Amino acid sequence: MNDQNRRSTDDVRMRGFARRQSVEMAIAWLDAQLQPLDPEPVPLRLAARRVLAESIASNVDVPGFDRATMDGYALAAESTEGATSYNRLPLTVIGDSLPGRPFPDHVGPGQAVRIMTGAPMPVGADTVIPVEWTDRGVAQVTITRAGELGAYIREAGEDVRPGDVAVTPDTPIGPAQVGLLAAVGRSRVLVRPRPRVVVISTGSELVEVGQIPGPGEIVDVNSYTLAAAARDAGAEVYRAGVVPDDKPKLLSILEGQLLRADILITSGGVSEGAYDVVKEALSEIGTVSFDRIAMQPGMPQGFGTIGPAKTPFFGLPGNPVSALVSFEVFVRPAIRFMLGKKRLFRRTVEARSMSIFSSPTDRRQYRRGLLHRERDGSYSVELVGGPGSHLLAHMAQANCLVVVDEHTTSVDEGDTVSVMPLLLAGS
Ligand code: AMP
Ligand code: MG
Repeated sequence: MNDQNRRSTDDVRMRGFARRQSVEMAIAWLDAQLQPLDPEPVPLRLAARRVLAESIASNVDVPGFDRATMDGYALAAESTEGATSYNRLPLTVIGDSLPGRPFPDHVGPGQAVRIMTGAPMPVGADTVIPVEWTDRGVAQVTITRAGELGAYIREAGEDVRPGDVAVTPDTPIGPAQVGLLAAVGRSRVLVRPRPRVVVISTGSELVEVGQIPGPGEIVDVNSYTLAAAARDAGAEVYRAGVVPDDKPKLLSILEGQLLRADILITSGGVSEGAYDVVKEALSEIGTVSFDRIAMQPGMPQGFGTIGPAKTPFFGLPGNPVSALVSFEVFVRPAIRFMLGKKRLFRRTVEARSMSIFSSPTDRRQYRRGLLHRERDGSYSVELVGGPGSHLLAHMAQANCLVVVDEHTTSVDEGDTVSVMPLLLAGS
């Protein structure tokens, strides 16, 4: 170990951070702490965007009965043998079959029932002659083409049969799945709950938005950004607001909030000098390790579990961009895991850099960028603003994070970089 390394290790000790971890190690460690939440029943209208937590077998046919796919005449194909425009066949119309109002009797040889699209096929009919092949008669109809057995009929069970698994467990429920659940008659289903996420901002300098900050005070930004991010990730969010750097106060708020939290997030108080309060408070109610994560921004983080239920805890750094980037890297995947999602991480795309910039050694850097899709379908990206972890305005202009790996120290124009588009779930 050379001198420089030794010095930085000493720094780490002095600051009280147990280890320096890679982003990958931190994610793997987090993964091992998390449990999916127990399923909950919800009415079908609330099931979309959840993940199904049961197997849905159908006990009905979908469609439920044989029905016409054209307006026309339902009859036995045999009755139309030999019909052409030169050999028009007259048949007796014995009634109508309408959607929701089936024809009650049997259709015999030489007979026809006027039928509408979606209406049940009468007993004895095995084909539909579309109106276009007839004279549209009411008491008697003349047809000009022979019917084909089974033509223009949608058979019962063609889509789903009794006993078929209509939707499998762990399927994300979207519009088509909701429709299918309705079709098989499920008005309630078991889904993974939305994790309840409590967001707390720590810092004696913080005031609520709307208040005029006094000297040295700043408006709390993080509880808003993190609450919005958690909601976008699919969580049920409670913003518990601002708590000063005061151990008893923080403890009592944390203990109170634990009752309704599946995940607890704080921001602030984990950087050099200020972390003591959050760290001390947490050591009394849980197992949280404060580590230096090899990333920029977001070097200091406190991860662990707290309270009797071992609730996952994320102590994110206080600078607004650090907090939001840390959320993207660690918390969003955790929320998605608890939601039962299979894909935890945002998709990344490769893009050509339009900017020249440097990146720190041995740290994964997340820069804010603007991703463009070129005409040929490839992507290019330009940086927005500098690496400063307080530059929220730049993050607000950006549409992606540019991820520069631990080994890359400089990026040139034209180099390929990995980009994480920051799409809102509803957009
Ligand atoms: P800390 O991690 O508590 O040392 O905070 C690092 C920096 O982020 C300081 O300049 C804080 O004032 C700022 N900061 C901490 N929490 C917030 C917050 N909730 N909203 C905006 N800025 C914050
Ligand atoms: Mg602070």
